[in-house]
Amino acid sequence: MASSVQNNRVSPPGYCVCCRTCNMWCWRAFKWLPVLLIVSIITWSYYAYVIQLCIFTIESTVQQCVYLVLYHILLIMFGWSYWRTIFAEVKLIPDKYKLPESELEKLLAAESEDAQRTILENFAKDLPIVTRTMSGSVRYCNRCVLVKPDRAHHCSICSRCVLKMDHHCPWVNNCVCFHNYKFFMLFLGYALMYCLFIMATCLPYFIRFWKMYQEYKHAHCDRLIEKGSVSKICMDMINGDFGTAASAGRYHIVFAFFVALMFAISLGSLFGYHCYLVANNRTTLDVLVSYRRLGSPTGQIINTMLKTLVNEAFRAPMFRGGADKNGFSIGAFNNFKEVFGNSPNLWMVPVFTSFGDGIVYPVPSLDEESESLISSERWDRWGERARPFDERESSSFDEL
Ligand SMILES: [Zn+2]
Ligand SMILES: [Zn+2]
Repeated sequence: MASSVQNNRVSPPGYCVCCRTCNMWCWRAFKWLPVLLIVSIITWSYYAYVIQLCIFTIESTVQQCVYLVLYHILLIMFGWSYWRTIFAEVKLIPDKYKLPESELEKLLAAESEDAQRTILENFAKDLPIVTRTMSGSVRYCNRCVLVKPDRAHHCSICSRCVLKMDHHCPWVNNCVCFHNYKFFMLFLGYALMYCLFIMATCLPYFIRFWKMYQEYKHAHCDRLIEKGSVSKICMDMINGDFGTAASAGRYHIVFAFFVALMFAISLGSLFGYHCYLVANNRTTLDVLVSYRRLGSPTGQIINTMLKTLVNEAFRAPMFRGGADKNGFSIGAFNNFKEVFGNSPNLWMVPVFTSFGDGIVYPVPSLDEESESLISSERWDRWGERARPFDERESSSFDEL
């Protein structure tokens, strides 16, 4: 146990500070590559759709205008949500959750796991936490030296504990958590709509080009095959030399259709999964309850984490009274409002409107009047209290 709570920040022998700094910057730059890839694909899709399809291919001015306006609206909302997911200000866990030096020394000096558990339990007795580890202990992060608030988890990529952490997303180079979950949902939703819109509007041209290609192949290539001029056919195929000019533009449109289709399939499944999580007030990591015990050495921690991921992927969050997969659920619509806020006008806009502060969550099982927790009057009162995070120092739902 003593070794597990020590914060081992000492560099291994022979590993100089300069190399460490260099590695750190390389790692930071490397983490932006997926974002760069997404931005490159969006930029190319803009060229393929606006220049090649709308300007060079579509002949009707009305159709051009309608497509361009709708496309740009979707692109702006998609880009705005993406930007806010990436650059959302992820607030740190308040200092009151951090173990002071004196408590940490006591914890390190404790001889048994039970003694350590008691020290943490005493420290956390005034903190508003209701979840526990599988063994019933207070959830503690030995790297950040703090008691984890409910639904907070340690992110090994960000090297810190994050409030209501869902997962670390490489495509946004940020943790998806309490502070940007709404933005992430909107990003997925708008990205899906963007892909579906490109697919739907490119489809007629995709079909037309396919027919042109078949006609050209029938008129030229098939005859060449009969004559045995296979190499000429290959060149024709590679150069896109069929029918009229602007064949390169056609390839951009056809390729845009396929890329949009590929992204729509993956985004659709991810968006559907997160809609399920929102409706049930769960996070990806809520289902991954850690088995890490306070006294486990690092090797055992890794093993138990793998075991957790493989075998316990759908275990429910653990409360004092036991595991409860719906422990934070307050009804599908209220769960939705907990993320998207109380104002329908702002549901689709990437501005922060989530309820609460990411530290305290209403738990129906702890409430004497569980029915009233999901009543509209209660939500109205909560709505008044639940101002955006930035506008207040701290808050709780104690009065709910
Ligand atoms: Zn941590
Ligand atoms: Zn992270």
